[in-house]
Amino acid sequence: MSLTSVSEVECRARRHLSEQNIMATPTRVAVVATVMRTDGWFDAEELLNRVREEHTRLSRATVYRLLPRLCNSGLLHMSEFGDGRHRYRRADPGENPSAEIYIIDCGRIIEREAPFLTWYGRTLVGRAGLELESQRLQVHARCSHKRQGGSCELCPHEATALPHPHTSRVGAVRRSG
Ligand SMILES: [Zn+2]
Repeated sequence: MSLTSVSEVECRARRHLSEQNIMATPTRVAVVATVMRTDGWFDAEELLNRVREEHTRLSRATVYRLLPRLCNSGLLHMSEFGDGRHRYRRADPGENPSAEIYIIDCGRIIEREAPFLTWYGRTLVGRAGLELESQRLQVHARCSHKRQGGSCELCPHEATALPHPHTSRVGAVRRSG
């Protein structure tokens, strides 16, 4: 990664914090910049360890206090899969609805596009005279390889199946059909 792109992400991180009226301390900027550079799902401890590689004095409290605020700001999406861990990934306002598939055997999460999800949610709440605000589909799955005596840790289940728009062209959300 070039120096230019590092400082560009840090600028975006700083801007995001100030838009949320959060003081842009160096450690907070480092946390947000790391989030902005991270593809796929992570939990608070993984993020903490990643940022601590460069910011050794980063406190656990800084990360744990900041994460809910980054969810409120729309930067992050949080899910919990019944194992008590809050998992996060970057959110994108233009992203298509997806199903979160939690693999019980290895704890990994994969995603698949679920284009019918918005229609389903809207139909359900519409019948109750309500308007759809958001919806999610969470699926818990068992690994068939492990069931046959294999080891799930060696499976190539993709960490994340959805391409992140951030890593390609920003704002290039395509609708098919
Ligand atoms: Zn597996």
